[in-house]
Amino acid sequence: MIRTGIGFDIHRFARGRPLVLGGVRIESDRGLAGHSDADVICHAAADALLGAMADGDIGSHFPDTDPAWKNADSLGLLRRVAARVRALGGSIGNVDCMVLAEVPRLAPHIPAMRSNMARAMGIAPGRVSVKATTLEGLGALGRRAGIAAQAVATVEVRARSGAAGKRRKTPALA
Ligand SMILES: [Zn+2]
Repeated sequence: MIRTGIGFDIHRFARGRPLVLGGVRIESDRGLAGHSDADVICHAAADALLGAMADGDIGSHFPDTDPAWKNADSLGLLRRVAARVRALGGSIGNVDCMVLAEVPRLAPHIPAMRSNMARAMGIAPGRVSVKATTLEGLGALGRRAGIAAQAVATVEVRARSGAAGKRRKTPALA
């Protein structure tokens, strides 16, 4: 069975913070505010994976009231979510991310983001897409208030095999 999940995240710009997107630290005069490293792309991707498994969201698994996640590396968070997908019997098909950012220019960093995120999720970079668009100056994001990201993920969930499969054939479960 192929399952699909959707993720969305948004963080405000803040001075004096590093800008980390897709696990890449990008030279910038501002970063994103947040409890963790505020990597909006990793957060959207993680939420898409959790969504595909109907397993809550990153807020429920990694609460921002927990000091353990203060300035946390979000690639590590993505790695934990991917491990959780596998523990639930899922195999990640692909993840497609759309970043909405007026600044900075992200194109030069996209190959490194895909590679970082693929490694964190334990899948080939060819299964991870990161695309970026500006807002043409429209709205809060267009006025450079922050960065948002959307993501979609597919997860293949294998039919139960082995003992569970045999058990299904017993008269009691027929
Ligand atoms: Zn976030």
